[in-house]
Amino acid sequence: MKLLPIIKKKNSPTIIAGPCSAETKEQLYQTCMQLAALGTVDILRAGIWKPRTRPGHFEGVGEIGLQWLQEVKQATHLPTTIEVATAKHVELALKYEVDILWVGSRTTTNPFSVQEIASALKGVDIPVLVKNPPSPDLGLWMGAIERFYKSGLQQIAAVHRGFSSHQKSIYRNKPLWEIPIALKKELPQIELFCDPSHIGGNRDLIASIAQYAYELNFDGLMIETHQQPDAAWSDAQQQVTPEQLDHILSELKVPLKELSNPNEQRTLDLLRENINKIDDALLELLVSRMEVSKEIGLFKQKNNLSILQQQRWGSLLDSRVKTGKHLGLSERFLKKYLEALHQESIKHQHKVLSKK
Ligand code: PEP
Ligand code: MN
Repeated sequence: MKLLPIIKKKNSPTIIAGPCSAETKEQLYQTCMQLAALGTVDILRAGIWKPRTRPGHFEGVGEIGLQWLQEVKQATHLPTTIEVATAKHVELALKYEVDILWVGSRTTTNPFSVQEIASALKGVDIPVLVKNPPSPDLGLWMGAIERFYKSGLQQIAAVHRGFSSHQKSIYRNKPLWEIPIALKKELPQIELFCDPSHIGGNRDLIASIAQYAYELNFDGLMIETHQQPDAAWSDAQQQVTPEQLDHILSELKVPLKELSNPNEQRTLDLLRENINKIDDALLELLVSRMEVSKEIGLFKQKNNLSILQQQRWGSLLDSRVKTGKHLGLSERFLKKYLEALHQESIKHQHKVLSKK
């Protein structure tokens, strides 16, 4: 896949800002004029049709909002972006000269809808941002990107907006950073944006999520901004004023993607050699552990004992987590690691048992 940047590359990350929804002409105009005056915003966003999880909430102003946005574009000279979910949305967006389209999370999840939009864009030269689906399904996210690519588009970027979860969390949508990192591994050329507004669901979390994204080499941010956030018709809690956005952006540190000084590179290389050696030792230990596990499997086979011994697993987990925590490792990491190890042991023992 040969992908191109969404807008002309500059040295700093690309900032997309604007209200969750266009509500009134005044609200959109004032918010966007204030944003343009900051000088740090590259693209203006606004939701025209809102895909609400449940009916009865504000579903967007529709076509009239596109007229307002066109006026905003003329006044600010900034490119605009809106969410499209159907071929009709695409047709209207093009009619009113929207510069960049984005596909929302609930749309990315549905290949029929994505294909409808991609087909409507055949032969059209416009950048598209693809938000991740609500579930942590990398294939579905990539599939949507591939559909646009197959339609002839090359300016395609991905927007990480977090993932739904039934578990309690400080986040509205859990970041699960490993998923966008895996996407970047599959598609190294793709520009990756972070949407800290929808990940956090709360304006107080935006700065820290955005900083984390920068540490992970994200190429830009999409941040919901409203002249009067508390009075917003959608996503009020997570929107910030243009002034607050300015403050957030000014506090963010943008790390370098690579080193320019060869001496510093040497220091880093030495540290990495250490890591490599430790990883090799860990792998060897893991293999030894699996060997013992297989022997236990043979013993269980001989004695017709089930593989899973709940009590043993329970006490092993408790004791290792306790020791690990004492050594300064986090409980979350220890549990993940031990569960993966245990599952792998079970698989090995199952293999032993299924061999006659
Ligand atoms: C939005 O950007 O306002 C939006 C609806 O986001 P998402 O598709 O990520 O839920
Ligand atoms: Mn929103």
